[in-house]
Amino acid sequence: MDKNRVEKLVRELIIEIGEDPTREGLRDTPARIAKAYKEIFEGYDSNSELSVQFSEDSEVVVAKDIQFYSMCEHHMLPFFGKIQIAYAPNGRVFGISKLVRLVEKYSKRLQIQERLTKNIADELYSHGVKGVAVMAEAEHLCMKMRGVKNDARVSSSAFRGIYENQNQKEEIVRVIQNRPLDPV
Ligand SMILES: [Zn+2]
Repeated sequence: MDKNRVEKLVRELIIEIGEDPTREGLRDTPARIAKAYKEIFEGYDSNSELSVQFSEDSEVVVAKDIQFYSMCEHHMLPFFGKIQIAYAPNGRVFGISKLVRLVEKYSKRLQIQERLTKNIADELYSHGVKGVAVMAEAEHLCMKMRGVKNDARVSSSAFRGIYENQNQKEEIVRVIQNRPLDPV
């Protein structure tokens, strides 16, 4: 991102909104936004790789409630919430910080929630695990602040490998949601 160009564009946007970019409160806003956008969209620069793995024998690994913040690509307004990741390792497991960075790699860019969920599942699955389940629940400010002002939370999920099988899918969703087994 060209910091000076971003500042110039934001200054113009402020004028179009009907404001005075030279008044005290707004004078430094273009620079602040340029700085904030660098961080909000740093997913494009991420070269984070899921390389460090630990040997461990486990049937399923669940990383719960990974907080994320993203920007909807239709309105450039935030959507944010929590992501649950479960995977069936193939002898080795990933460090939890690697999973958090994987979420950031795909959330810190212009996104839609459904693709965010798929991006995470696909990258994790490409590392040779037997199955991946990713579930996200988020609030979208573009729905809350404008238009229909719908307060609903949006859910999305993606399943890969063994979790594409209906029974395995139901089982892993139950594990993620911590629900007890159905009585037999
Ligand atoms: Zn939107």
